[in-house]
Amino acid sequence: MAEPIYTSQEPFVEHESAVLVICCSSNAFLPYTQEFLERHLELGPGSYDLLAVPGGPQFLLLTEYLPKFAWVGHKWVKFLVERHRLKRVIVISHEDCAWYSAEQFVPPFLHAARGLHLRLAEAGEDGRSRRSLAQREDLREIVQALRNLGLPISVEAYYAEKSPDGKVRFVREG
Ligand SMILES: [Zn+2]
Repeated sequence: MAEPIYTSQEPFVEHESAVLVICCSSNAFLPYTQEFLERHLELGPGSYDLLAVPGGPQFLLLTEYLPKFAWVGHKWVKFLVERHRLKRVIVISHEDCAWYSAEQFVPPFLHAARGLHLRLAEAGEDGRSRRSLAQREDLREIVQALRNLGLPISVEAYYAEKSPDGKVRFVREG
């Protein structure tokens, strides 16, 4: 039998989870997201289920453009909520998300379809703040898409952005 190469410091404890966090897997933002969850929302390690994927909760909006993608995402969310009897879903997006600059996943026409593209162009926003506004708009639609799943959950959304003092701040979006 193979010898173990590492053993945890603490004994195994299975915590009760009532919360699902859906966020981007970005290595840059994940540590700040975990700090926000722990310090502000008082959700310590092991007290929530985590679904960290590229682009975070954006997959919930891909039902028409990338339906298989959205289908898998919906399955994950339903499985976790039903299996663990979760009551609360927290979705978090972040500034400069690489997913949003990858046009094969979030093509400009998706925003154009919602009229967002035009409104942003009128506002004279540059590419970066345009993406940021699109992400914030998406967060509100994501909240609606989660509510439309008909699950017995509360939903809340946050946007993480870099603050002028070089830190990361979180803004509630829904
Ligand atoms: Zn990201």
